[in-house]
Amino acid sequence: MSANTSSEYQRLANHLRETGLLASANGLLGWDQQTYLPSGGNNLRAEQMAYLSGLIHRRQTDPQLGQWLDTLCDSDLAADPHSPSGATLRCLRRDYERNCKLPQQLVETLASLSVTGQQAWIEARQQNNFAHFAPLLEQTIRLKREQAEALGFVGHLYDPLLDEYEPGQQTAQVAQVLADLREALVPLIQQIEASPVCPSTEILRRRYPEAGQARLGRAAAEAIGFDFQRGRLDVAEHPFCGGCGADDTRITTRYDEHYFNSAFFGTLHEAGHGLYEQGLPSEALGLPTGEAVSLGIHESQSRMWENLVGRSRSFWEFWYPRAQTEFPEALQAVDLDTFYFAVNDVRPSLIRVEADEATYNLHILIRFELEQALVGGELQVADLPEAWNAKYEKYLGIRPSSDADGVLQDVHWSAGLFGYFPTYSLGNLYASQMFEAATEALGDLDTMFCQGNFAPLRDWLRREVHRWGRCYSASELIERITGKPLSHEPLMQHLRGKFAVLYGLSTS
Ligand code: ZN
Repeated sequence: MSANTSSEYQRLANHLRETGLLASANGLLGWDQQTYLPSGGNNLRAEQMAYLSGLIHRRQTDPQLGQWLDTLCDSDLAADPHSPSGATLRCLRRDYERNCKLPQQLVETLASLSVTGQQAWIEARQQNNFAHFAPLLEQTIRLKREQAEALGFVGHLYDPLLDEYEPGQQTAQVAQVLADLREALVPLIQQIEASPVCPSTEILRRRYPEAGQARLGRAAAEAIGFDFQRGRLDVAEHPFCGGCGADDTRITTRYDEHYFNSAFFGTLHEAGHGLYEQGLPSEALGLPTGEAVSLGIHESQSRMWENLVGRSRSFWEFWYPRAQTEFPEALQAVDLDTFYFAVNDVRPSLIRVEADEATYNLHILIRFELEQALVGGELQVADLPEAWNAKYEKYLGIRPSSDADGVLQDVHWSAGLFGYFPTYSLGNLYASQMFEAATEALGDLDTMFCQGNFAPLRDWLRREVHRWGRCYSASELIERITGKPLSHEPLMQHLRGKFAVLYGLSTS
């Protein structure tokens, strides 16, 4: 490697780090906006964040980046695509080319349409009036098509939209794995519904004082390894994980004194995201090697701690006595198995965010199929509510009685997020597949969980997933960790095994 190449690379890395510093400051402003910002500060905050976003975008499309890439992409630094410098150059080329393909005008129109779209969606939802939102949705879809055309694709128009959140993943492949999942899942859910046993979920709706929920949630986040020296847990209307980066990760939750699940499992979920952020190499701030590989992999980390760990019997063997001490009035007379069954209640429902571990993926499949048809032009916006209801009837056996509980329930489409939904299910699939590999590598995880010992799993995730940043693509990472390509089988095996016991199903 020539001295020149090396100093050019150093300049490039400095440029990326400075952009990363701006982005992390913007992240903190965003976190503050959703937690502590007084309402009078909203306009100033919008201006601050728009200004910073503009600066960041300009730096990301700086022609100097293209020159550095041209010089460096044929050098030794790029030879190994998985080395830190090789991954940096490979990911940067992808991001840079993507950013440059999008006309500035389109980026700006989409950004402002996302604000007006969300406003129209809020009103439409409140008034249960889809027609109020329809024109903005039509406009959004037109622009998303334009965006896909500008980015270019070989297979489906939906490919470049999916690629934004799950780099390298193809629509056809995701469609296949989700179809396989559906085929196996629908009969299992029907078996569960036909079972004569069902949990008493009333116990979760008793009174759970907020202070106790906050103590228990924080203790659980700490126990799984969320580092409070490098992170915070606060309250927000819509829980999320954000902040500045690995050394300052902010997670949020919300409390409902008459529902145990939302704060506790929400906190575990966000702490799972937080562990991933804290596990990224902090010295690589702003570089691809310091960034999460995809939304699907991010979601695999939250779902693993929320569901595979947090909804396991062994987890509660350790945590249930603490929960009983915290909430004697609600839980003193409830035994562990009754509680464990209650937090694993499965039933078809209308609202995605309240869905259980098993039916959740059908909610995603419905959205994935509909948004492909919308983008592809096979489905018109005017026909969307009926198409939505028909799919709920077909896959879940229930039909929304209003659009507010149906097609208007999620914010995503109004914000222009097409291609985002499937990453939730990919997260579930990746999580189960990784968990299977972790069990193989570490031995009996249940025995560890019973003792409140979560460090071996967390350290394994740090080694196998977190520390790599974007050195491998999501599918490369999965193959590397598990030796197999993405599959629906590990998730189905987990669900079948767990719910056969709970619901007394035959396992033949
Ligand atoms: Zn999540």
